[in-house]
Amino acid sequence: MDGVATDRQRAFRRVNTPRSVRYWRRMADDDPLDDAERRWLRLVDARPDLAAAVDLQRVLVTRSVELLAQTRRIVRGASAAPADLLDRLARQRAPVLDLAVDLDVDRVLPFLLGFCDDFASGGAGDPARRVRAVLERGEIEPGSLLRASLARRQEAIRQRANHVGVAPDLVWLVAELAVGPVAWRLQHEALVSDASAPLAVRDALRDWSRGECPACGSWPALAEVRDGRRHARCSFCGADWLPRAEACVYCSAAGETFLAAAADQPATGRHIEFCRACGGYLKRIELPAATTFAILPVLDLETSDLDVLAVGRGYARPSMRPVAEPEAPCPEEA
Ligand SMILES: [Zn+2]
Ligand SMILES: [Zn+2]
Repeated sequence: MDGVATDRQRAFRRVNTPRSVRYWRRMADDDPLDDAERRWLRLVDARPDLAAAVDLQRVLVTRSVELLAQTRRIVRGASAAPADLLDRLARQRAPVLDLAVDLDVDRVLPFLLGFCDDFASGGAGDPARRVRAVLERGEIEPGSLLRASLARRQEAIRQRANHVGVAPDLVWLVAELAVGPVAWRLQHEALVSDASAPLAVRDALRDWSRGECPACGSWPALAEVRDGRRHARCSFCGADWLPRAEACVYCSAAGETFLAAAADQPATGRHIEFCRACGGYLKRIELPAATTFAILPVLDLETSDLDVLAVGRGYARPSMRPVAEPEAPCPEEA
């Protein structure tokens, strides 16, 4: 019967359609890749010099979106919320989550290797092929690498990469791409979701005024100004928080050493925050709504002219904060 479905029929279908299929239909309605594609086309139109960067990003973001759809099965119901989550939020010491949960590594591995292939064919060539080879041979054990990346242990990853003679930045990057969507899901479920994050936690998160990401401790990729408020967006897990206004996110300096300058004349809502105290900069973009996790790299690329501008003036984005050692010391594996 192809007639108009009654409410009862629709309700029946809803109940009898598997969750995974309903999830995909919802995804299809507002597919982040449709939005991304429109933006990439616009960007290449305006900036032909970014065509190669857009091509690589298209492949990487498409793979990330596929990975994002599998994260529920990858984390197997694990939670990153520690028992003392509210205390950690109150003390404002990042990371408040224990992100290095037990993963289904077999499900992540094809993505990890796929990102290596994307870089190999997207311009990185042999160095990316060598990273893939050491992962396949187990010289860098994929499970350990993914857990170290979730825990943001950059120095440990660099050391291992140097030890086996592959490019540390590339190893860090492919691992970050392979677990970023997992980190997004873990932080969303532990800190944001109405369904799984306690109200007290969601309230406490609104008081987080530090510059670093509460969930994972990374620096923000950029700031979004929405409804007049400056939201930082994590470069790794996509978390969204409200750092102290009119102060440097990196060193907290305020006053004369901190300046937010308009990037365009006439004004377009794009600013760069400069800090003369630490030499750091942060892009600040006015937007009508929050950028979804999958599209954050696109926003970053769209505003890459601001990075060029800031770096040209001698400012930099600081590297990853060293991770705080666990308060209860636990031995590192050799
Ligand atoms: Zn984060
Ligand atoms: Zn600063």
